[in-house]
Amino acid sequence: MNMQVEELKKRIGEASRICVFTGAGISTESGIPDFRSQNGLYRKNLEFSDVISTSFYQNNPVLFWELFKEIFRVKLLDEYEPNSGHYFIAELEEEKTVHVITQNIDGLHQKAGSTNVYEIHGTIKRAHCQKCGSEFGLNFLTKVELPSCTSCEEALKPNVVLFGDSIHWFEEAVEAALQSDLFIVMGSSLQVTPINQIPLLVRKHGQVPMVIINKEPTYYDYVFDNQIHLPIGEVVTALKSGK
Ligand code: NAD
Repeated sequence: MNMQVEELKKRIGEASRICVFTGAGISTESGIPDFRSQNGLYRKNLEFSDVISTSFYQNNPVLFWELFKEIFRVKLLDEYEPNSGHYFIAELEEEKTVHVITQNIDGLHQKAGSTNVYEIHGTIKRAHCQKCGSEFGLNFLTKVELPSCTSCEEALKPNVVLFGDSIHWFEEAVEAALQSDLFIVMGSSLQVTPINQIPLLVRKHGQVPMVIINKEPTYYDYVFDNQIHLPIGEVVTALKSGK
């Protein structure tokens, strides 16, 4: 087994309160592309961050919903299944207290069985009317071109944190991170603010061992005690098989 993975196995064995911070990279092995693989937008000369924003939604609801559905494969969403990374985290709950802070909006941690999940960027599975507050589920969103409120006729807003919105659960997530005795990042480039500040806060205020598992190095690798630049599936297989 790779030395870094062996070190992680030891740290997991010793820990009792684990906080796992995940990003789009944990869901790529389920078939959902991360930000870096979004080629569709380039042909329209748009940046991802321009489209997934409150102002784009307000100014161009029809194009917003067309691109939003394309980017997040909304029609296929119910068909995606958790992978070995999601299940590994869920199974840790059998022996440890586990909190998951996720940037993902795909619901795969819950589908795998994790119970303490902070969806700081919300969920793609519902949308709401900003006028009357009515909520609508995924089935409704996939059926129509422009999802609109059935009573007010307003274009719905997805229950996803768009650029320009405030994130959810920030205080709770920071508390879970600071109270952990092992902090693990899995599959995040750590480029999205303000959530990428959580590892920095953990380093500054806690005495917590910190590990990152990400295929590529990130700008914040220096704050981690252990950096594993391998696919999550490979790491999980090694952790489970001991090889
Ligand atoms: P990101 O796309 O910026 O970075 C993902 C990182 O994961 C990359 O550095 C990549 O090298 C790594 N990676 C990809 N596959 C991996 C694997 N199998 N094993 C290990 N590492 C792997 O993603 P981010 O940091 O989460 O930030 C982008 C934003 O993307 C978040 O706000 C999130 O809401 C949104 N997003 C979510 C989903 C989803 O819900 N599944 C999908 C796309 C984007």
